Amino acid sequence: MSPSLSYDVVVLGAGVAGLSAATQLAEGGARVCVLAKGVGSTHLAPGTVDVLGYSPERVEEPGGALGEFIAAHPEHPYALMGAQAIAPALEWFAACIERGPQPGYSYTGGLARNHLLPTAVGAIRPSALVPETMAAGDMRAAGPVCVVGVRVLRDFYASVCAGNLRRAGIDARAVEVDVDVGRVEANSLGLARCFDDERFRAAFAARLAMLLRPGERVGLPAVLGLRDPHGAWSDLQRRLGHAVFEVPTLPPSAPGMRIYNALVHALRRGGGRLVLGSEVRGVEREAGRVSAVRAHTSGHETTYHARWVVLATGGFASGAIELGSDWRARETVLGLPLRGMPPAGEPRFGADYFGPQPMSGVGVAVDSSLLAQDTENVYVAGAALPGAMPWREGSGEGISLASGHFVAQAVLEHEVAAAAA
Ligand SMILES: Cc1cc2nc3c(=O)[nH]c(=O)nc-3n(C[C@H](O)[C@H](O)[C@H](O)COP(=O)(O)OP(=O)(O)OC[C@H]3O[C@@H](n4cnc5c(N)ncnc54)[C@H](O)[C@@H]3O)c2cc1C
Repeated sequence: MSPSLSYDVVVLGAGVAGLSAATQLAEGGARVCVLAKGVGSTHLAPGTVDVLGYSPERVEEPGGALGEFIAAHPEHPYALMGAQAIAPALEWFAACIERGPQPGYSYTGGLARNHLLPTAVGAIRPSALVPETMAAGDMRAAGPVCVVGVRVLRDFYASVCAGNLRRAGIDARAVEVDVDVGRVEANSLGLARCFDDERFRAAFAARLAMLLRPGERVGLPAVLGLRDPHGAWSDLQRRLGHAVFEVPTLPPSAPGMRIYNALVHALRRGGGRLVLGSEVRGVEREAGRVSAVRAHTSGHETTYHARWVVLATGGFASGAIELGSDWRARETVLGLPLRGMPPAGEPRFGADYFGPQPMSGVGVAVDSSLLAQDTENVYVAGAALPGAMPWREGSGEGISLASGHFVAQAVLEHEVAAAAA
């Protein structure tokens, strides 16, 4: 007989959608448990909150563009939730980061204006809410830019980044710093840990200072600390006497890990529980309700009973939705109906990677309250929702945060109503 546990809400998935929903549920007084087979795309994505970057042209003011975007995309998650659902979610997230375990670390921006930040290869990317450590990289600001490579880091090529920025008309150049990190090779995570150390920063700044020219903004790979990114970034600015900004690297993503750490910290502070390495493989139903989920952890099965389930298991990328050899898509966790499959005979994929990809609009069929079709107690959040093309729209984390906030509020309202009855 497998052990059996009971919660008010079980949240499936530990990406931005699942963790933000779970944390707000815990903060609202619900007994909540997050089950996830692994971490989500936080550890891969750049750590910015993109709300609406393209519609289809580049968007300057996401808040102002949302009305028209929603009117043109009535099936989009933003249309279901309403544009007014986004701002409170961003505010909650920014406050959560500020109260987090990384002292002084904060996000800046919002719906008023997109920042235009460089990617690792020097393309320019619009993003609404960004880490303070990236904000000085806004390419709308004038003045010369020096992109700094760290020789030991193979996931960031300053010359490629600066070269493409120059092609976009920005006065950019590249330099490279050779530092001893005490290992043969380091990835972003290893280097971020080095930057948490003040002695390492002092040695690094001493070498870099000699290479900088007056008035340059300094772009460094996004490795400026994991434990204390605000301290590392401020310290480097002070030592160099230049504005410093982080540029996202290839995975692993240190800024994404900071988000994960802050959300998990807030979840636990609110009394919530996270069980990582726990794959949901089965479900128990009572009429229209999912009454329990069965999860496998280290070879053991545990049954989690709950009044409410939040499905935040992601989409194709996380294996929550699969396309079979019969060309049928299926939701792999709870077996829920999907929506958004391109009709037979219509193209499913586009030849241009960043162009329209019809399959990316497939997700779990939901009603306008984000309740999964044919269920009375399963809410859906994040990339599991249908109707969006996050890569093309630049909307991934915006959808995850807004829907996480939205479903948490919906469940809490049900709980309050039930308690009052
Ligand atoms: C490399 C990369 C770069 C990106 N860049 C951007 C960007 O620049 N801008 C942008 O807006 N968006 C970007 N995104 C997209 C964005 O990160 C996602 O759209 C969004 O964060 C999805 O979050 P989520 O919480 O819905 O799902 P995910 O983060 O995918 O999390 C899914 C969770 O569900 C869990 N799970 C899945 N199946 C099961 C199961 N059976 N049992 C238990 N747990 C399960 C997974 O382990 C994981 O914890 C990027 C994504 C990636 C991967």
